[in-house]
Amino acid sequence: MKICYRCLGNDNLIHLVRSTGRRGRCDVCGENRQHVLPFSSIGPLIRNVAQCYYEVRDNYFHSGDPIEFLLQSDWNILSDELVSNHELVKQTIIGLLAAGINYDHDDDPPNYSSGTFLTQSELLSELWRDRLEEYLTSNRRMSLQGEQPGLPDVFEVVFEDWGREYPINSHFYRARVVTDRRQNEPFPLSELGAPPEGKPSSSRVSEKGVPVLYVASDASTALAEVRPWLDAAVAIANIRTTRSSRVVDLCNVPDIENPFEDELIVWKVQLQFLFDYLSYELSMPVIQGSEQSEYAVSQQLCHLMREAGYDGVTYQSSLGSGTNTAFFDVKVGEPTEAFYLRLVDLNYRTEPTSDIGPFYPERLHEELRP
Ligand SMILES: [Zn+2]
Repeated sequence: MKICYRCLGNDNLIHLVRSTGRRGRCDVCGENRQHVLPFSSIGPLIRNVAQCYYEVRDNYFHSGDPIEFLLQSDWNILSDELVSNHELVKQTIIGLLAAGINYDHDDDPPNYSSGTFLTQSELLSELWRDRLEEYLTSNRRMSLQGEQPGLPDVFEVVFEDWGREYPINSHFYRARVVTDRRQNEPFPLSELGAPPEGKPSSSRVSEKGVPVLYVASDASTALAEVRPWLDAAVAIANIRTTRSSRVVDLCNVPDIENPFEDELIVWKVQLQFLFDYLSYELSMPVIQGSEQSEYAVSQQLCHLMREAGYDGVTYQSSLGSGTNTAFFDVKVGEPTEAFYLRLVDLNYRTEPTSDIGPFYPERLHEELRP
């Protein structure tokens, strides 16, 4: 059996067949003189992404989906012209999955033709939920716990993959609203860095009383983060790092360039899921009167990052267009100069809230709360 590049949907697969295939007849669409490759050349690539799914054998809660449905919707294997023909899609994808398999090395291969499958992508997120649930019920701080002595905890491996270095003299911004109407002198520079020890209330990143240096990647994000009111005067300080620092960067998810040839595909897809979930939790603005448990998710996450030896965490700002970094060691950055702005316009964009149910969407800590 052979397939032509025009029957394929994914760019990586199309490129492979166009660049290495010979001209011949396509057994899927019947066209002649197209670039084609035998099914057995493409089979291993499809099986590579198929590792992201497992066969449902005795799961009473989830029934799963046919493998061709999952592969087509997640990886766009076949071209749009073919997808309306369900039987052809099924035959082609099952044929590709079986092509060139060496059963001697695979004792119990998944039943692709009639089994149903679930995605493995959420396993890492589920592990995180389990630990969080344990924390919320026992109130014991989370801790890095390698499965076996000498082996790193799975989240240490995750952080390593998301890690990045800020060299010494990296520039950030930090804002502070002038709240005293009678103030007529600029703040001393020393008051534009991290709040002093014992002062800060709890936040997304740290427990009550533990100071953290919050900085933003650009001035307008720093401004948005302090949520100034109309007519407020705001100091924007330049913050320079005094040493190189290593942070977990939640904006730095490793790319999957070619999923069909990436040996770490299963892990990377799980990372992506965990990433999406954690960055949502970290970036949601904290509102007045929020319960302590609302902070739990991100506080415990940051606690683990600290334990793993990181200096901070970078994440997408939900209020500005740039990123925020929270440095656990407040001495990493110091203010070098400041300028002052007055807020003269606010763009209020709105949407109607829902008529029924809570005004704010339910979050994980509420769902898990004992
Ligand atoms: Zn074809």
